[in-house]
Amino acid sequence: MLHLPLAQGVLDRAAHLRVDESALEELMLAGIYYQFRDQRWVTTKGTLTQFSYSEIQTLADAGELYFLGLESGQIGHFLFNAPILQDQFDPEELLSLRDIAAQLSFLQIGIAVHGQALALWHNSHRFCSRCGLETFPIQSGSIRSCSQDHQHHPRTDPAIIVLIRDRDDRIMLGHQATWPERRFSAFAGFVEPGESFESAVLREVAEESGIQVRELRYLGSQPWPFPASVMVAYEVIADNPEDARADGLEITEVKWWTRAQLKSESDSGELILPPKISVARAMIDRWFSEKSDESLGGEDQWRN
Ligand SMILES: [Zn+2]
Repeated sequence: MLHLPLAQGVLDRAAHLRVDESALEELMLAGIYYQFRDQRWVTTKGTLTQFSYSEIQTLADAGELYFLGLESGQIGHFLFNAPILQDQFDPEELLSLRDIAAQLSFLQIGIAVHGQALALWHNSHRFCSRCGLETFPIQSGSIRSCSQDHQHHPRTDPAIIVLIRDRDDRIMLGHQATWPERRFSAFAGFVEPGESFESAVLREVAEESGIQVRELRYLGSQPWPFPASVMVAYEVIADNPEDARADGLEITEVKWWTRAQLKSESDSGELILPPKISVARAMIDRWFSEKSDESLGGEDQWRN
């Protein structure tokens, strides 16, 4: 299985406490709080800033509070989700998850991916899709409801991501029209309604690169809250590597790499690899290290 940086969260979600008001009240008094503001986190030296109950109490009217989980069976962790008020923070205090993910502990990684996915869902579900009335959080922020008791649960959009290999032990990566030049990565796409992960892999690879694959191998999954995905990783073997071609729409170029080519082009900057927190990078690194003692360098030069 892959080691996936954003999948290492360790906080116990303690879902039974979401409806236990007296237990939650007690946890809140001694709880640890984090602030998510629009698309960004309030941070200190590149990690999530921790606030106390009394600090959050003075802000509570301006936002919503969600229970994220329990540490060591006794410390409650909570998220305060609110818009940014003018001049409230120094710009360097407000950072995106992409900026800070590499520095976070496993505890904070779990808090950040859970909190961000949850907050972004709340922010875009302010009105009931059944009756149009305003919605509000219930059960500690794990659900939203309108006054007619239409309940809405947070959604996660599954997407598959595929590393395509061939019999000569090369990998194929693609370049997307919307990416910076020289950026190549694995193939990915959303799972469509009524589709299995495996069917989505076969369809995406055929659509975007024109090749037929077999020997699907599941490699792991990680949350990708930008805004609401979980990436499900597979490795496949191409039957017809010589037929690879970009679809010309989403993908403008596809290319096969040996380890030596990938290393040399990435070292020279001709090729920009995906960021280290991504599933794509973990899959490329894993393939590379199967037959090499070296590692692939390169900084995370790609933010979006
Ligand atoms: Zn409703």
